[in-house]
Amino acid sequence: MNKTCKQCKETKSIFMFARTTDSYGKIKYLTLCKACKSLAARNRRKADKIIKVVLNPDPLEQAPDAFKDDPRAEKEHDYGKVVRVPTYFPKGGLND
Ligand SMILES: [Zn+2]
Repeated sequence: MNKTCKQCKETKSIFMFARTTDSYGKIKYLTLCKACKSLAARNRRKADKIIKVVLNPDPLEQAPDAFKDDPRAEKEHDYGKVVRVPTYFPKGGLND
């Protein structure tokens, strides 16, 4: 018995698919083959690692004087004209 994997679209033997039992005790096979399933798990683990790195606190940023202005900036005066320009989104979305 063969089954087509939903991700790699390859028709493989049913033994290449993980088997589960539904609430009625009927044997069911997952739509992803074992190779695609392990690949997805690996990608998920990799994504988790990236999130962990981002969540790691930066000691420089966590310092109490991290967002203090430069002392020289206190004497500075900014006389500027504020121009409000609406955000422009190109047609067809942001991905190109
Ligand atoms: Zn597959």
